[in-house]
Amino acid sequence: LNQNVYNFNAGPSALPTAVLENAQQELTNFQSTGMSIMELSHRSKTYENVHNEAITRLKKLFSIPENYEVVFLQGGASLQFAMIPMNFLPKDTKAGYIMTGSWSEKAFKETTFFGEAYHVASSKEDQYRYIPEISASSFHENDAYIHLTSNNTIYGTQWKEFPETGQVPLIGDMSSDIMSKPIDVSKFDLIYAGAQKNLGPSGVTVAIIKKEFIEKANNDVPTMLDYQTHIKSNSLYNTPSTFGIYMLGEVLKWIELQGGLNAVAANNEEKAKLIYDAMDESNGFYVGHARKDSRSLMNITFRLQNDELEKKFLAEAVEEGFVGLNGHRSVGGCRASTYNAVPQEACLALSEFMKQFQQKNG
Ligand code: PMP
Repeated sequence: LNQNVYNFNAGPSALPTAVLENAQQELTNFQSTGMSIMELSHRSKTYENVHNEAITRLKKLFSIPENYEVVFLQGGASLQFAMIPMNFLPKDTKAGYIMTGSWSEKAFKETTFFGEAYHVASSKEDQYRYIPEISASSFHENDAYIHLTSNNTIYGTQWKEFPETGQVPLIGDMSSDIMSKPIDVSKFDLIYAGAQKNLGPSGVTVAIIKKEFIEKANNDVPTMLDYQTHIKSNSLYNTPSTFGIYMLGEVLKWIELQGGLNAVAANNEEKAKLIYDAMDESNGFYVGHARKDSRSLMNITFRLQNDELEKKFLAEAVEEGFVGLNGHRSVGGCRASTYNAVPQEACLALSEFMKQFQQKNG
């Protein structure tokens, strides 16, 4: 495998090299079947084992309590934006959305097709630079649920501690930080994430749902959009993304080999620190977008003093083998995504490059 670039893509993003190499090695003859995993029936015993192992690993690694179901869905996190109100927003109550970026906005927009929702809090007035404070008076006791985005991929902010919502169910879009650290799953009634950042290739969406919560779901939902369909059939109602689920299982094995989520979290902190330190020690040459107390360990967003310098920085970075440092097309600037599979070495190289570029251009 020849991968002489530093991949800082925001998603799809870096996968562990060891996982790619192993997949390559077993690509044409998976477990002596004489064919690739992609060519096997999704009803075959061989595939079923891969599928069930991925679910078991996910439950164990993420410490998912017994009273939760795990399903693999398609349609990305974006389809979850609609499936959530479709299944969990009855006509007589409201859903509260905590607005921390464009993905919260997109999630909120889908509620309008099914019922009523409101903003619990928002940091939009400050270009989503921070995670707002939430208290019991921010929402209503009889809300259908509260929705938050745990990590804001575009703005580079991340929740450090999740809000207490008491009896009100809490739903989290964890697309860009799932499995980057241990979390208390029991605080949530539903967690969802597209796989293409920390878990594997695109095409699989993971949903983790509390059993008591699923019992409250609407029953008049089309079959494929009904969580119950996928729970009852162990995510095999129709043909799942078999290759994606296989890869996800392999990434989870890799996380286990790293020492699990505590080890991965410690590594992610060190990685992000290398880049944040380069920013903080630059005397304003690099200006972070996120407020310090809300900084993400997964997406590090910053700007240079003017567009010209920023263009030069990004162009030289490409020449040096850094891929994906452009900010999201909606906000510009620079962004380094440092998901689990981005090695420490890449973050060190980036921090060195930032310092050198400043020396030459500061
Ligand atoms: N939520 C977050 C936090 C994201 O970062 C993304 C994708 N970048 C999405 C949702 C949308 O995910 P998908 O492309 O899987 O629909």
